[in-house]
Amino acid sequence: MGLSKTIWTNPTEYLTTQKPENPVLFFAPSVLQGMARKFIDSFPGMVTYAVKSNPMEEVIENLSSAGLRGFDVASPFEMRLIKRLAPDAALHYNNPVRSPAEIAVAVELGVKSYSVDSASELAKLIKHVPAEGTEITVRFKLPVGGAAYNFGAKFGATAELAVELLRVVADAGFVPSLTFHPGTQCTEPAAWESYIRKAAEIAEEAGVTIARLNVGGGFPNHRLNAVTPDLDAIFEMIDRVATEAFGDARPLLVCEPGRGLCGDAFSVATRVKALRDDTHVFLNDGVYGSLTELPMIGVIDRTEVKSPEGVLRTGEPVARIVFGPTCDSVDRLPGELMLPEDLTEGDYVLFHGMGAYSTVTNTRFNGFGELGMETVLNLHA
Ligand SMILES: *Cc1c(COP(=O)(O)O)cnc(C)c1O
Repeated sequence: MGLSKTIWTNPTEYLTTQKPENPVLFFAPSVLQGMARKFIDSFPGMVTYAVKSNPMEEVIENLSSAGLRGFDVASPFEMRLIKRLAPDAALHYNNPVRSPAEIAVAVELGVKSYSVDSASELAKLIKHVPAEGTEITVRFKLPVGGAAYNFGAKFGATAELAVELLRVVADAGFVPSLTFHPGTQCTEPAAWESYIRKAAEIAEEAGVTIARLNVGGGFPNHRLNAVTPDLDAIFEMIDRVATEAFGDARPLLVCEPGRGLCGDAFSVATRVKALRDDTHVFLNDGVYGSLTELPMIGVIDRTEVKSPEGVLRTGEPVARIVFGPTCDSVDRLPGELMLPEDLTEGDYVLFHGMGAYSTVTNTRFNGFGELGMETVLNLHA
């Protein structure tokens, strides 16, 4: 699935000259680097990248050359990937469940930051990881809304348990820190506010001064025409509330965006295989391909339809039921998509904002899923 060496001006140039039959993901390194600089310049602390959202080597390399110095990793594969591509970067091993063999890999690779949300997993870390200079970050959860997908459903200690865990971390000689993850595609700055205030209460109750507060990922990318993410509003909220809640004991801040960094740097071009009886649109990509996330967190309406000659379809938008290429009946995009009425078989439907949880969750189910990868200067025009 590597990138070809040609750099195209934009997706249209590729589509009109190559007329691809398979779906194609277009990557604009300039957009990724711009987003990395936005985070580095405006977030009031250290910016790390959640590798799981898009582990393509080109993504890691571009983030690294834009100045990113830390990566949130969850598995030995991800740790080795970063060690190879960005050997000097910090690894934050923030998957709260690990086998002893996985922990051994992390120790061997020099990982100095781990997160945890249970007493038994903390005991395992204490047993296998040397405490000296190593941070253990206690992950807690709150019932808060605002995200497209709730991460607290799987991980995160209650505030009461977090107090106990934080004391154990400090007593065992590790550097104590706290973390949370407000959810993904979280457009509501208030989600961070309640978490940061709760973190201060947990530290206070435990009687522990925390070194760092990792405010998670969850930063939104641009998926809906009507909702432009306001990262500055979120960063300002985090900065202000951290000072209000912690005062003189304000910890260093860390964030670990996945989607917020890589999402807008990619667009996918799908092709209309059929417009069946003028009602149902069948695309060559669907929920087993790069559009996996749509049923979970909602449809992307930042779409454009182009003829094979590159002409933008500008007909009145009409609601269409859209299916993917496999024979499974769940292979359908949620709800209906507004698509121009002059859309026809052979057209390309471009979805923008497709960088996160797309390349990496693409499957080969039913023999589909051969996803092309191309580099472009611009994603539009
Ligand atoms: C998945 C994940 C992230 C990234 O989430 P996004 O919503 O893509 O920003 C960050 N931190 C942890 C611990 C995660 O599991």
